[in-house]
Amino acid sequence: MELDNLYQEVILDHYKRPQHKKLSASFDAQVHHINPSCGDEITLNVTLQGDRVENVSWDGVGCSISQASVSILSDLLIGKTLTQAQEISDAFMALMQSKGTEKGDENLLEDAVALAGVSQYPARIKCALLGWMAFKDASVQALSKK
Ligand code: ZN
Repeated sequence: MELDNLYQEVILDHYKRPQHKKLSASFDAQVHHINPSCGDEITLNVTLQGDRVENVSWDGVGCSISQASVSILSDLLIGKTLTQAQEISDAFMALMQSKGTEKGDENLLEDAVALAGVSQYPARIKCALLGWMAFKDASVQALSKK
């Protein structure tokens, strides 16, 4: 299907040219999350400016889905308020739990809708969610330091 091919391209593009994949020297919180079932690893830094996500940077290894997902996430969440970031994260989690029945809100999720098809493959959902769990963890830790 054409749409699937397009989505595949978005994922591969983020995998080959990852966004914000260079750990920042300074950060409010740094977390390291792993997905042992696939061998994915992500270290993620978050910097907050008041209620806003000032920066997200990361480094990692693993499958294309895990790496593309965190690349998409960093692009999407930098500059958002924490409330917006939460709304986007919740929408992405819901999409991953939809078992292929949802396409996702492109206005809200932008490139992340390319991962919608992953929700049909339970074994890969953890790959797609790894970065988002890391972001959630890091933002909670960053907030608690303020
Ligand atoms: Zn994986």
